[in-house]
Amino acid sequence: MVLPIEKLQKFIKLEIDRGYDNRAVLGGLDKILPTWENEALSSRVDAKIIETVTDRLKDYHRLDTQARSEAIQELLALLQTYQKTAAPVEKVEAPRKDPATEIKGDDDIRPSPANRPRQPKPGAPYKGQAAKSRFAEPPPSVGLNAPLTVIPGIGPNHSRTLNTLGLNSLEDLLYYYPRRYDDYSQMKPINRIQFEDELSIIATVQTIDMRPARSGNRQIIEAIATDGTGFIRLTWFNKPYLLNHLKAGDQIVLSGKVGRYLGRLVMNEPDWETLDQEHLHTTRIVPVYPLAARITQRWLRRIMHQTVSFWAERVPDFLPKEVVEAAGLVDLPTALQQVHYPDSIEKLQSARERLAFQEIFLLQLGVLSQKRSWQSLPGQVFETDDQWLEAEVQKLPFALTGAQLSALQDIRADFLSGQPMNRLLQGDVGSGKTVIAAMAIAMVLRHGAQAALMAPTSILSEQHYNNMLKMLPGIEKVDGNLLDADEIRLLVGDTSEAEKQEIRDGLAEGRIKLVIGTHALIEDPVGFKNLSLVVIDEQHRFGVAQRSAIRVKGENPHLLVMTATPIPRSLALTVYGDLDLTVMDEMPAGRQPVDTYILHPLERERAYQLVRKQIEDDHQAFIICPLVEGSDQSERKAAVDEYERLQKEIFPQLNLGLLHGRMKPEEKDEVMSRFRNEEYHILVSTSVVEVGVDIPNATVMLIEGANRFGLAQLHQFRGRVGRGGAKAYCLLIAETSDAVENERLAAMTETNDGFVLAEKDLQQRGPGEFLGTRQSGYSELRMANITDVRLIEKARHHAKLLFEQDPDLNSPELEPLKAKLACFWEGGKGDVS
Ligand code: ADP
Ligand code: MG
Repeated sequence: MVLPIEKLQKFIKLEIDRGYDNRAVLGGLDKILPTWENEALSSRVDAKIIETVTDRLKDYHRLDTQARSEAIQELLALLQTYQKTAAPVEKVEAPRKDPATEIKGDDDIRPSPANRPRQPKPGAPYKGQAAKSRFAEPPPSVGLNAPLTVIPGIGPNHSRTLNTLGLNSLEDLLYYYPRRYDDYSQMKPINRIQFEDELSIIATVQTIDMRPARSGNRQIIEAIATDGTGFIRLTWFNKPYLLNHLKAGDQIVLSGKVGRYLGRLVMNEPDWETLDQEHLHTTRIVPVYPLAARITQRWLRRIMHQTVSFWAERVPDFLPKEVVEAAGLVDLPTALQQVHYPDSIEKLQSARERLAFQEIFLLQLGVLSQKRSWQSLPGQVFETDDQWLEAEVQKLPFALTGAQLSALQDIRADFLSGQPMNRLLQGDVGSGKTVIAAMAIAMVLRHGAQAALMAPTSILSEQHYNNMLKMLPGIEKVDGNLLDADEIRLLVGDTSEAEKQEIRDGLAEGRIKLVIGTHALIEDPVGFKNLSLVVIDEQHRFGVAQRSAIRVKGENPHLLVMTATPIPRSLALTVYGDLDLTVMDEMPAGRQPVDTYILHPLERERAYQLVRKQIEDDHQAFIICPLVEGSDQSERKAAVDEYERLQKEIFPQLNLGLLHGRMKPEEKDEVMSRFRNEEYHILVSTSVVEVGVDIPNATVMLIEGANRFGLAQLHQFRGRVGRGGAKAYCLLIAETSDAVENERLAAMTETNDGFVLAEKDLQQRGPGEFLGTRQSGYSELRMANITDVRLIEKARHHAKLLFEQDPDLNSPELEPLKAKLACFWEGGKGDVS
């Protein structure tokens, strides 16, 4: 039924756009009538509607513009109302009020009692009439990818709001999991309830009134309800409209937590429903969804219930039956039903297990096929002879650690393998990954091929550029020439257009061998002559799409991604299963652990003393401003204020620099290079300085409002100091006295080991935030808890089994799985790394 109506609406809208020239349809609007009428009849569109449409359109060509516009507007309105009230699902749950007002209110309007209230047995969960039976007929031609507006009660306005939650289709709704649940399945008579019970009661409203609250201009609705065994007082704040819905004598179900007021039991803000309606908010395990502005919990629950009761059982299970059975899972329709409206905690548990399993399963299948497709591609071979490598390593200003040497051997072997390298180099902050990148680049450049090095910020790009200029020029190429500094260039967002053009020409002609830059490298239309190696630093800062975008600028180039975010093994195997892994678990000699202290806000002066002392000894310090929520503007202001305060009141004799996110890239670079050149004693910065920056002379990292930062971030900050030989300090100043007790801060003082901290961070924050949601496939892990090793192992096991049997998923039964897999990996364009 949706189809003919929508089709007609399209024509009508086109006609309006064209100014009623009767050309929306070839030969005139009336030409669509015969076909449309048939379609409408077979979709069982209301006969009256069909009649009106035919009537208005058959003589349309005879009307003048004014009359046409009237006829069209009339039809449009008619169709809209019809769509709202007469779609099959809607017949039952026709919207009871205008959606525009509905969003503001927090309540449903009470339906008129359709049948007599039934009093359920106390203690037994009360179930309204099953919704399923009402929807005997599916709306024709609506699939899971249908837009939200096919759901009765969701108009364009609601649909837009839901879009902001990332919900665009029926399927998205089904996978929109509750944030938590309230268990209101327990029911008691009033004389048996106790303080702090969470339960449902069935009662009759005895009185209901509104009075102003003593303070402020709030309105309190107060009601007394009774079930014959006792009385309970109910209160709601600022919901005057309740008076229109609840009257003395109404039988209702109430759910919530039992509180106490002046010694008596009360319920504040209970959820309520009339006894005769189907219960979505009371008497059961009630889902609580994440909301957006302008959507209420009650409204969303109703929409979800409608969607789930009708659609969940129509969702085909894409997991092969054998897998579902072997892994002891429930089927997908059951899982979807139970995750939204669980019948019991146990059923909820199995639903969650099933949904988590499928996420890991898909992730793992995707990763496995990635790896396979990688390995099927030919890779350029670059030989590295021992003598050359030894000589180049000798030229470095320090001896490489054992871990660095074996990383070099891994990379060297990859270059020889005939397949493109796809390696993750994982090493804690300060473990010396940059020099490995430089040597890898050298191995390729000496053969006359090109490389690109990409970093997340311009500060970091410039730092890498300077480092590469120190390490690479002068290396001996296979043709006997030495690499020239001119062959290395920096391309960032604010590189002048003239220079960019020159770089583009140089890269296209092959004169430039190495380009270093930010994502500007991807956005810029640079083309390479023979891009053979891509190195990506701080890879977790890049989206997957960005990584593949740079890679396609070459022909199966070798790829080396570097990260300082150590990942626990179970996670690495799942998320980076397509990458070969090199771990550098050794710090350069002479590094001393950074001494870390948590300070009370009142102890700030002691921290400043230490800063002064270190500066007297010719060192430098970072001071990180507290994290400011809100706009970039407020962040800027906070940073400027803190900088001025420190400069004027605390360190008037010293030179302070300021760095914040609102500065232009060239301003940031200017500040950073001044700090590096020791023109500033102290760098006051927001979190922009977090990643990768290397200032060996800095020995103090003072972090204000430290309790606000995540563990990985704190570890990154701390990693900015202690890179030279001198003793370094990290001072964590908590925002308030209470915040001193922060778990993360405590973890920071316990260890300097990034792996240990990462493991803790993961437990505290969960996987999504840990890796950043941009990680492909990862954002899809909404149910799976990545610390649940048992589940991960199980899902990996079953995915591997299936993959070994049928890597291309060619067997016909696997068709749905194949389709699902394609969706799952969609955004990433099949690229994981
Ligand atoms: P990260 O792994 O965090 O990117 P960097 O590559 O920036 O670390 O290296 C941190 C510092 O350690 C740099 O100043 C670098 O020159 C120095 N460094 C790297 N390797 C060694 C080594 N083997 N011995 C001594 N210092 C080293
Ligand atoms: Mg680094």
